[in-house]
Amino acid sequence: MRKIIKFSLIKESVEKLFIEANYILSRDVRDKIDESINIETDARAKEILRIIKQNYEIAEEGIYPICQDTGMAVVFLEIGADVEIEGGFINDAIAEGVRRAYDKGYLRKSVVADPLRRENSNTNLPPVIYTEMAKGDRLKISVMPKGFGAENQSKQKMMTPTSSTDDIIEFVANGVIASGGKACPPSVVGVGIGGTFEYSAYLSKKALLLPLNVKNPDPYYAEMEREILRKINTSGIGSQGLGGAVSCLGVKILTYPTHIAGLPVAYNYCCHACRHSSIEL
Ligand code: SF4
Repeated sequence: MRKIIKFSLIKESVEKLFIEANYILSRDVRDKIDESINIETDARAKEILRIIKQNYEIAEEGIYPICQDTGMAVVFLEIGADVEIEGGFINDAIAEGVRRAYDKGYLRKSVVADPLRRENSNTNLPPVIYTEMAKGDRLKISVMPKGFGAENQSKQKMMTPTSSTDDIIEFVANGVIASGGKACPPSVVGVGIGGTFEYSAYLSKKALLLPLNVKNPDPYYAEMEREILRKINTSGIGSQGLGGAVSCLGVKILTYPTHIAGLPVAYNYCCHACRHSSIEL
């Protein structure tokens, strides 16, 4: 059976989601910060983590967003084949939702309309939209305001098929460690393994939507996530790169089958402000 979803509902949902994501950090990330305050042994790092927590609490009141970099608007869609959008084109509804959220929510407009001529679009448009078709009649919208201090520290590598698990762990962990304090650690790291060049990067960003309090269902990758996390956390980077025991809050891996001749690997760096919000219509 077809399900009709109105253009206006999508627009309003996207507006609400971007404001929510910019002001209210998800419970799983907040819990990790709480845990980190208890684990941290360095007095200065502990104090920084307490200030980070205080910042979230102030942001939740709805006047100041979590960070001044309210990000480029990234949207992940899962559209059921039985969904019909009534009243307009879905991407227009999303763009209008983003424009309204950044306007009404007093969020910084950080997008330049052309990557080289660099004039601000003054609307935070356009968003980056990823669309996946699915079976069924639901529309899932996930939004991610992505700050570029963190985005700039992300990397992709076409590894050889003979690369070992350790090679991948080193590529990700060493890369994140080399970023030091550049992108507001403690970090959250999304990793994409497999697919093609660009698909691995897509997976690494999508992995940042995964809850930090849920283990990878595949024990092989759960172990890899643990090992990358352990390595980053023994680096001593600490909160804001000023030293300490907690440098990373979580590592999440997504995988996809790949070609016999290759092994694409990407990681998407996110700071402690790992902002995202989702709805199912
Ligand atoms: S890296 Fe994150 S916390 Fe730091 S300025 Fe960018 S968005 Fe804000």
